[in-house]
Amino acid sequence: LAKASATLLNIDHFKGMGPRDVHSHKGTYGRLLCIGGNKGTAGAIRLASEAALRSGAGMVRVYTHQSSVIQVSAGRPELMVTDSDLDAALEWASCVVIGPGLGLDSWAEEAFAITMKHCQAHNKPVVIDADALNLLCKQSTAYTINESILTPHAGEAARLLGVSVDDVEGDRFNYARQCSQRYHAVCVLKGAGTLIDNEKKTWVCRHGNPALATAGSGDVLSGILGALMAQGLAVDIAAKYGVVLHAKAGDDIAQQYGQRGMIASDLFDAVRVLINQ
Ligand code: AMP
Ligand code: MG
Repeated sequence: LAKASATLLNIDHFKGMGPRDVHSHKGTYGRLLCIGGNKGTAGAIRLASEAALRSGAGMVRVYTHQSSVIQVSAGRPELMVTDSDLDAALEWASCVVIGPGLGLDSWAEEAFAITMKHCQAHNKPVVIDADALNLLCKQSTAYTINESILTPHAGEAARLLGVSVDDVEGDRFNYARQCSQRYHAVCVLKGAGTLIDNEKKTWVCRHGNPALATAGSGDVLSGILGALMAQGLAVDIAAKYGVVLHAKAGDDIAQQYGQRGMIASDLFDAVRVLINQ
């Protein structure tokens, strides 16, 4: 797969979300369920879910571990947080993000299995990130989930495809394509020059910088992607818009403050400004 066949992507490709219909209500903008935040990693799912609210999702629910409920909801009463009845939460949702802080233990495995089964059965849009990718690579059956976005960094892509991180870094276009084709999903291969591959075409994000190399940055991206799908964007449009908004937000922050010291939650306001343009 030649690099030359890829399309360069910048903020000009973001055509905006359009004006909000005066008669719209929160249901118009989607019901997003974010799943993750195992014991000790509540922050990851909090970042994803708060990013989703700041990216315009109408309602955001979080399914998290019992020990994370207080931390996920602290200071953010707009989030609906639960540690029980995942089935009911999935029934409610129009779109799902799974993975940030999910972990790999039996709690995580069960949540993953229930979620994937539901999303496959109902063809529900799902963003698969972080530990959900690590659980995905353990599956023996071929998972083909329509309407899904996988968001691996090079390490996660290497595990998914059974190759080394150096292999992925040395041939990112090829492995992004392999990933999208294996799962019939859109693959967002993160890193400097994030790639978006939908099995047929590849886009390269021209924004982004090492300010984004900070804890939780990827969790924010998964929340943005979920929010865009919840608002009705098609899967590959959501992937392109989400990646470019996240990366340009990182550029705007770096331009104002420099590349050091940005924290992932700084992205909320920057994305909010961009998404309203
Ligand atoms: P994660 O590793 O899951 O936290 O995701 C990190 C996020 O930051 C991804 O969206 C990456 O594309 C982005 N990122 C990290 N390092 C860089 C970099 N050097 N240049 C551009 N983007 C980066
Ligand atoms: Mg991550």
